[in-house]
This record gives sequence, structure tokens and C-alpha cells, in this order.
Amino acid sequence: MIANRSELESRLKLTENERKWFDSPSSLPLLISDQFEKLINPDDPSDPIRRQFVPDVRENIKIRSADPLAEVSHSVTGRLIHRYEHRAALLTTDRCFAYCRHCFRRRFTGLDSGPISDDEIMKAASYLKEHREVYEVLLTGGDMFTLSNDRLEKLFDALKSAREDLVLRLCTRAVASCPSRFDDSLMSIIEKYNHGGPFLLLTQFNHPVELNEESIGAVRKFLSLSIPAFNQSVLLKGVNDDADTLEELCNKLLYNRIKPYYLFQCDLVEGTEHLRVSVEKGLELEKELRKRVSGLAMPQYTIDLPEGGGKVILTTDYLEGRDGDMLVFSTPDGQKRRYPID
Ligand SMILES: *Cc1c(COP(=O)(O)O)cnc(C)c1O
Ligand code: SF4
Repeated sequence: MIANRSELESRLKLTENERKWFDSPSSLPLLISDQFEKLINPDDPSDPIRRQFVPDVRENIKIRSADPLAEVSHSVTGRLIHRYEHRAALLTTDRCFAYCRHCFRRRFTGLDSGPISDDEIMKAASYLKEHREVYEVLLTGGDMFTLSNDRLEKLFDALKSAREDLVLRLCTRAVASCPSRFDDSLMSIIEKYNHGGPFLLLTQFNHPVELNEESIGAVRKFLSLSIPAFNQSVLLKGVNDDADTLEELCNKLLYNRIKPYYLFQCDLVEGTEHLRVSVEKGLELEKELRKRVSGLAMPQYTIDLPEGGGKVILTTDYLEGRDGDMLVFSTPDGQKRRYPID
């Protein structure tokens, strides 16, 4: 594990931008789990894991908002964000096993809220009990699996008692960052509460090297409990912003029974400027990827609009217009086809 400058320097030679971060560190702490540390090639300054976890002075460029999704104003209890009518997100903790430099929730992550308290669990549960319009709850943070087993039991117990019917998304990067967390005692708790509304596993794998024996093994434990797995990646400069990497990632996910769900445009969060890919380039990548992978391996390229506008899907518009009573389409490889309007 790497949690300070000397531990980092004993592992790799810092670049100037990396070294300068320590002169005025941004609020998101430095923390790299053993599992991710193992994956970094110290001789490669542009290593994709390094880019995601080693801080950089460019994080201090503060021209963006700390809360571009307006999550604070959509919070209905201290921890529950209710932005979409039928689903809500519960911030179960601000802790993670490793802090991603692209974290979109850095106004919250790794600061001082800590794990959800009994009182906060009860408040969220009673809100959900009253708001029957919510069908689905995202258990997120931070990373919910940094919670102790005891806290997780309390959380599951309260939610299942309040609403047996809720679909519960277990949102975690820990299968990649700390696969050993998913030991028998944790899995037996998940099994115990795996009744009524389903658990769904929502992972975040951004690069194919993150999918290895250990992380795939952790995902399998969920699959063996009939909990399906979906992946949300973030499009990141120098990590996965090329079609070959995305193709390999999506195929490897599908092969391991993890459905690629979203490929997120990096949010306009302060400190992520140097990791963001333009929407124009993102759209080109989406188009190319769609030509290369199966429909099932294709994630939805999605942008979470500023000021709490919500998520919208981005894709090439293959419908170019109309010509008399015909619609004019372009095919993925650039030819034209016509189709009658009625
Ligand atoms: C993304 C998000 C959801 C879930 O959206 P889906 O499109 O259903 O995956 C729910 N609540 C909040 C606050 C979100 O940001
Ligand atoms: S795991 Fe999620 S919450 Fe934690 S630092 Fe990464 S993006 Fe942020």
C-alpha cells in the first residue's frame, strides 16, 4: 500500500508534475492499494494505473466546480441523493481502498464524513419507506466495501426491513482495488441478504490490466450467488482513450460475464482537467468501438450534464435527415441508405 510520498518514491521515480503535487496537495488523499501498486510498471511514466492513482500537480487547476452534478442540492438526507424519480444513491462512506485521481465525487471522497452511522442508516431507510416511487438504490460512496462487515449487515438489514422490494446496486471498485476483501465471511453476509429485491454488482474497470485472476475471482463470487455484474468505465486520457484499449477492455469484461454498461465522459470536476478527453474525440471512439465489438460488449457513452442536468447518452446520429418521403441514413462505414418514413 502507498499512502505517502516516501512510500511512493521508494516504488517509482516521480515526474516533475507528480513531485510538485506534494508542495500543495489537493484534498483527495494519496492512497494506492497493494493490488493496484502491483500492477504499476515503475519504469513507465505513462502507465495506465499510474495515471489513475498517482497524483499530479495539474489537479490543482481550479477552474471547475467541486459539485458539477449538483448532488448536494439533490440530497434528501445527509447521505441520500434523490435526483431521478425512481432511483436514489446512498453515500455509504467517503473511504476507498485506492483514490482515483479522476474521482467525480471528490467534494466528498476521502475527506471527513467517514462511514455511515446508525442514525444515518435509519434516516435513509425511513425516507425509502415513505418514497415508494424509488425502485432502485445505488449503494455507493466512496466504496461501500470499505465498511466493516458489521456496518454492512446493519445497512442491509435496515434497507431490507424497510423495503424488501428494492433493487440494490452494490457499486464498488474494490473487486479491482482490493479483491481479498471478498472473503468467505463477507460473502456469507451478502448471501444472507440476497433475497427479495436483487443485488446487482456495479464495478469500475477502466483498463484491461485491471481484469486479472484476483479481480475476476472476486467478481465470480458474486456471479455464483446469481448476482449479475455490470461495469462502468470512465473515459480517461492516456488510460483508455484509444479504440484498441477499449475494444480489449469491453471484450474482456463480456468474456468474464461483466456487461459493459456505461463509458462515462469524465465529469467537469475540478482537478480532472488533465485526464479529460474531449466529447468530440469520445464520439469518434464510440463510433469506432461500435464497429468493432458486439452489441452486448458495447457500453453506452454517457455524459452526466453539469448543474444536475442528469445523464444523457451520446452516440453518432446515423439518421441524417429526410428526402421527400424517405429517411436518409448513413451506415457505420459511411455509405448512404434510404428507408421510407411510413
Ligand atoms: C447515475 C445515477 C443514478 C443511476 O442512473 P442509471 O442511469 O440508472 O444508471 C442514480 N442516481 C444518481 C444520483 C446518479 O448519479
Ligand atoms: S473508487 Fe469511486 S469514489 Fe473511490 S476514488 Fe475511485 S471514483 Fe472516487
